[in-house]
Amino acid sequence: MNRFRPSHIRTRLTLWYVSLLAGLLLLYGAGTLALLLRNLNKELAAHTVEDLETLEGLLYFDSQGQLKLREDYHNHPESKHVQERLLEVRSPDGALLYRNDRLGSRALGGAPFRGEGEGTYSQRSVRLSDGTRVQLASRRHVIDGRPVLIRLAYSQVLVWRALDEMLIAQSAGLILALGLAGLGGYALARRALAPLDEMAGQAERITSENLHERLPTESVDDELGHMARVFNCTLTRLEQSFEQLRRFTSDASHELRTPLTLIRSVGEVGLQKGRTAEEYREIVGSMLEEVNRLTRLLDSLLTISRADAGQISLRPALIRMPDLARECAGLFEALAEEKGVCLSVEAASSANIQGDPILLRQAVVNILHNALKYSSSGGVVVLRSVDLASGCAIEVEDDGPGIPEEHRERIFDRFYRLDEGRSRGAGGAGLGLSIAKWTVQAHGGRIDLRPAPGGGCIFRITLPAAGCAPNRALRTDLEPVLSGRGRV
Ligand code: ADP
Repeated sequence: MNRFRPSHIRTRLTLWYVSLLAGLLLLYGAGTLALLLRNLNKELAAHTVEDLETLEGLLYFDSQGQLKLREDYHNHPESKHVQERLLEVRSPDGALLYRNDRLGSRALGGAPFRGEGEGTYSQRSVRLSDGTRVQLASRRHVIDGRPVLIRLAYSQVLVWRALDEMLIAQSAGLILALGLAGLGGYALARRALAPLDEMAGQAERITSENLHERLPTESVDDELGHMARVFNCTLTRLEQSFEQLRRFTSDASHELRTPLTLIRSVGEVGLQKGRTAEEYREIVGSMLEEVNRLTRLLDSLLTISRADAGQISLRPALIRMPDLARECAGLFEALAEEKGVCLSVEAASSANIQGDPILLRQAVVNILHNALKYSSSGGVVVLRSVDLASGCAIEVEDDGPGIPEEHRERIFDRFYRLDEGRSRGAGGAGLGLSIAKWTVQAHGGRIDLRPAPGGGCIFRITLPAAGCAPNRALRTDLEPVLSGRGRV
């Protein structure tokens, strides 16, 4: 970082503003001085010509043939210009005929150059032998029948003095103007940025303990108001995430505590008195059942936290939907038989999809397992693969107790269960559907629930057909899907 760069924006703004103003004023000042110089020089040149014309009538040859200037012409010789006049007269061959006292030994040029003063005035700016810069005009003239070249000059010192004075006045004005502009600019910048300091102070006070606090948004329509609103929205999202995390942690702890308590109490009861080998086998079996439940729960929690962290990447392959349906049904044939539920597959679809076979199979398995879990003996569960205009779908229909309308919207939330006792008894922690929903959405699909005509429910997973599926490793915008709202 540049160590000469001021740390405050208000100082930087003031410096930029003052520098810009200084640049503009300097340009303006230089322009004015150039214009003044040009005009003064023009005026001096005009005056020189005018005086030369007057002088033409004042020169004469005396009786000795000496060229003289009639000095009595000026009754009021107070004119500074007239007094400072430098005059030289030469013959056409260059011989010096007259030089006034003010000019002294200095020359206004040597022999006349070709065409000098012929027909019109020759004007130029020359430097004299002593370094004085003068405005010179020359003109050929005839005095008493003798041709001569009259040269008249005025020093440009007055012009430069006027310019110097102007420069000093302008510099003083510039310094004053820049000083005032700097002070005013700094005060304005400070005032305009004051809300920013207030916001920074407020933002510094916000921690995870008081995430509900917000930045002041008094000036709602300007850039600072916009920034405050954006920051407040970020705080709102952070607060929601913190709240979700808190709920998730407390729900997860609750779910983990139940099987652990069961394992401990079964163990304690088993140790209270001596038992037969058969009784011990039963106790250990019951403990292992709880350990299995714990393992499944931990697996689900791990899946969710890896999905939240964006650590699950899809490994897409071509999947035939009827094959997926048959494969999932095959996994539950034994369970269906054991429960006395009729599990059938209607694989009418011929569609292929591009997706991660393991993750998608897990999503279907979660839904199918629920259908069997909540169906009673004699029930029917149908697994269908269907072709749709926009892709294809897998449906799981059961004739179980169904899901009342008021729960349908939240059924995909983490740890959400309709009947906690019954569900936990069946081994569920309320995570299966949320994982299924995340998987399907990560594949660019969606999952819907509607009541079945027979009173149960129909879960439908809709996926884009192969070629339409988004080809990406993992969607990262799924936080709302993964967010849970806790238990009922
Ligand atoms: P769980 O592992 O507890 O089954 P899920 O997320 O899979 O968790 O399901 C959430 C809740 O939705 C279940 O606890 C259950 O109350 C209800 N549910 C899911 N599927 C069905 C179904 N087919 N019939 C009735 N209720 C269901």
